[in-house]
Amino acid sequence: MLGKLTRVFNRLGQLRRMCATVPYYGFVTGHGYLTDAQVDDIRRLVDNPATGAQVVADYERAFVRAIAGSQQPGQGMALAGGRMALWVILKALGIGPGDEVIVPGFTCAVVASAILRTGATPVYTDVDPDTFGTSPDAVTRAMTPRTRAVIAQHSFGIPCKADQLRDITTARDIALIEDCALTLGSTLNGTPVGHFGDAAFFSTDHSKPLNTLVGGFLYTRNAELFAKAQCLVEHADTLPADQQQRLFNQFLLERRLARPASYGIYQLAMLVRSVMRKIRKRGMTFLDDDYTVERSGAYPYPARMPAMLARLGLHELERWPAEARRRADILTRYVRAAQGTPVEHMLPAAYTDPARHIVGHRFAYRHPKAEDHHTRMDARVHTAWTWFPVPVLGATQGLASLGYHTGACPVSEQVGQGIVNWPCVIEADTEKPLLDFFATVARQG
Ligand SMILES: *Cc1c(COP(=O)(O)O)cnc(C)c1O
Repeated sequence: MLGKLTRVFNRLGQLRRMCATVPYYGFVTGHGYLTDAQVDDIRRLVDNPATGAQVVADYERAFVRAIAGSQQPGQGMALAGGRMALWVILKALGIGPGDEVIVPGFTCAVVASAILRTGATPVYTDVDPDTFGTSPDAVTRAMTPRTRAVIAQHSFGIPCKADQLRDITTARDIALIEDCALTLGSTLNGTPVGHFGDAAFFSTDHSKPLNTLVGGFLYTRNAELFAKAQCLVEHADTLPADQQQRLFNQFLLERRLARPASYGIYQLAMLVRSVMRKIRKRGMTFLDDDYTVERSGAYPYPARMPAMLARLGLHELERWPAEARRRADILTRYVRAAQGTPVEHMLPAAYTDPARHIVGHRFAYRHPKAEDHHTRMDARVHTAWTWFPVPVLGATQGLASLGYHTGACPVSEQVGQGIVNWPCVIEADTEKPLLDFFATVARQG
């Protein structure tokens, strides 16, 4: 009881700070750049989804081009969540009961649940402190005769050691699947993420590099695998109409409020909405069902990408080339601002590695006293949304419910305790105050 009261009290305190007149930075940025006419186009697809088949096809083509960059493009398929794209990949590879899938202990509950849904077992491995992604050494140690696939996760925009992972999985003739949920456009030795494995999946959840509120994408250059994936989703439905309506309302709210000048009001609105939802017993907006192994079946799994979200995705993709350049630049500025401060020695090695071009998603490092550092950051940054303080993010029924047992990944647990995140997905006119604030916090250590 006391604990609950303290949490409520702390939350209110943070809300008060957010509502002050200084800008406050979260990790979700709304679509403030869209015109009212563009919003009306999206609204028409909510009301009339049957007109949207071509929109989804156009979105798939554009997304494939964005992933491929200078490479020979593969094939892609839009789904309602990254987790569903992973599930389809695993099924297309014939993975099921008795099989093991290696996943880094810096993952999201919905990844574990996608693996569990196939009947396979997730095997958690330590992350690589150089990249915060999948560690080739840890993967080698975790291999057993039952290992059928390895998930190479690129965290925070940083390409993991995907070339080494490719060598390991090729030598054993097992599949390599790239988790690109947090990384789009970054390259390792000139090769963009998504081109190291047999297949890759991306997420376009509102906190990810491209924002369609919810969404996922399957990408592969293996035509046979893609044909199998198409069979698996042939009869899949899209999200229910009432959920699409709620997503559209969420989009309107974020377009108006999810930005530094009104972040406190956004948080307040989200709080009110979650209370209202409980009172009115309305269904969910996001795909919250997959954070546990028990499900209510509120939406199909896998579900196809709704056309109205694909329309939003097309707008995101139009801006992407310029955005990718800007986010790479923001990351460079964070790294430069850290130089000569105590933070310089806390950065992962990947940030100064010339083999990597990084389109920043979040600027991340490890702090030995992260709690104090977070307290200083709280004045301007919503640190409650820091990723990977625990090895499996968002496990609402505890990590053990998804097969993670404390101590399984000691490196991940230790790195997670000190992990610090700063946003790279911010509007152009809000960059400077944030970087100035970072410089101040970094100097204080
Ligand atoms: C968000 C996320 C996913 C899942 O994406 P959804 O679109 O939410 O299903 C997978 N892996 C990582 C690392 C993520 O952060």
